[in-house]
Amino acid sequence: MSSPKYITPPQECTGCALCANVCSTDAINMVWSGDGFLVPQVNVNACINCGACVRTCPAQPAHLEKLRAESSATETPEAYGGWHKDKDIHLNSSSGGVFSALAEHIFAAGGCVFGVVWSGKDIARYTKAENMAELAAMRGSKYTQAVPGMVYRDVKEELKRGRQVLFCGTSCQVYALKRYLRKDYEKLLLVDILCHGVPSRSLLQAYIREFEVSTGKELERIQFRDKAGNWQQYQVKKIFADGSSLGHINRQDMFIRLFVGDYALNKACYACPHARFPRVGDITLGDFWGDLQKLHPDWPIPDGIGSILANSPKGKALLQRLSASGSVTLVADVLDNLIDGQRPTYIRHAEALPPNREQVLRALRDEKLCQIYHNLFAYERCGPFRLRKSSLLYKAYNVLRRIKRRFFGRSH
Ligand SMILES: Cc1cc2nc3c(=O)[nH]c(=O)nc-3n(C[C@H](O)[C@H](O)[C@H](O)COP(=O)(O)OP(=O)(O)OC[C@H]3O[C@@H](n4cnc5c(N)ncnc54)[C@H](O)[C@@H]3O)c2cc1C
Ligand code: SF4
Ligand code: SF4
Ligand code: SF4
Repeated sequence: MSSPKYITPPQECTGCALCANVCSTDAINMVWSGDGFLVPQVNVNACINCGACVRTCPAQPAHLEKLRAESSATETPEAYGGWHKDKDIHLNSSSGGVFSALAEHIFAAGGCVFGVVWSGKDIARYTKAENMAELAAMRGSKYTQAVPGMVYRDVKEELKRGRQVLFCGTSCQVYALKRYLRKDYEKLLLVDILCHGVPSRSLLQAYIREFEVSTGKELERIQFRDKAGNWQQYQVKKIFADGSSLGHINRQDMFIRLFVGDYALNKACYACPHARFPRVGDITLGDFWGDLQKLHPDWPIPDGIGSILANSPKGKALLQRLSASGSVTLVADVLDNLIDGQRPTYIRHAEALPPNREQVLRALRDEKLCQIYHNLFAYERCGPFRLRKSSLLYKAYNVLRRIKRRFFGRSH
């Protein structure tokens, strides 16, 4: 066998870095592709052609086929809406802050937690926390592809030392860890986050660059799920090096509109084999979407509600213990509401690739983000025409459309 040119078809690669972790000669480096996604790069001089990377890669077509063919869960997950009882922890987490309660439990048993922190304004990485002070930086979603480094090796080291370990990440990373370990460990708690995809790092970089130019200030970091306003409008807070900050809600924010609209996700995410039941982790954490004001008006909605799935006996037992200890509030029997609130791609099967993804990624190489954004959202197709939304013609077209609907009803 010759050195692999690429380990798996690039469009299937999730950037999980399992190949780099299994390579016995450290011949694989994860690098950023021109489109801003993590991909493996093989150093042919260090490669001994053992084939381990190709054999282990979860995105190999044959393996993917097997994964996709797996039937749905034999056991249905227990579903909860939940939040941490400590207000500070709750407000500093993306949704309900249940991740922090799980971590607290692991630390109390002498264990450690692997999760993601910012390690620069446009890069997020896996790291290990040994206590609640170190855990603080892991709180909050970093909407970018986290760099795994050699995290699967590090997890195994801790397990071999007999420690309790919590690993929290996207499903593809949790799955990669399972494949790396090749056996179950009683002391390992796997937590996957509901994930509709990771956006291109080029998008994040363009966003930061243009924001710094327009404000004339250096950005220190971004907090994607600031709860100063209403959690359901999720506000993006930009914190500047001079200590000042600015917040924009979802609808006004270029990055969030492109991310949530799936315009620039990693290609593998559009057909994610993990967006289904059974989930890959013992516990799954996500946001609780839907019309909560109507369904659960007594929940602390503005502070953020987590959707929590207990998938394995281990996950179920732990959540019951946390609930009994009083560190979290968990409201049971909400599976239908939880699923209804999520777009299909989060839990069930993925959506089709949007036609303008390639165009957006290409444009990110040399066009300004504000220009790309303008081209995407400033025009709308109206019958055979593409009209500028601010034009008189567009407004007139919409008045006519409303009149037509009122008197003749919908044509479909
Ligand atoms: C890229 C991305 C997309 C997401 N998409 C959805 C979605 O479509 N629907 C939904 O319901 N929820 C989504 N989430 C999950 C959600 O935002 C929260 O992470 C989740 O609800 C847990 O919240 P929490 O309050 O319990 O914990 P928090 O303290 O907010 O965070 C929990 C954990 O998230 C991990 N994390 C943060 N950023 C990353 C990252 N880039 N890669 C891997 N792990 C990370 C941290 O390690 C930490 O362990 C997404 C998260 C990410 C990072
Ligand atoms: S999917 Fe993971 S293991 Fe496969 S090539 Fe990509 S980074 Fe490597
Ligand atoms: S074939 Fe073996 S040595 Fe070469 S990159 Fe893959 S795992 Fe490493
Ligand atoms: S959508 Fe799937 S492939 Fe993409 S980051 Fe999330 S878990 Fe990984």
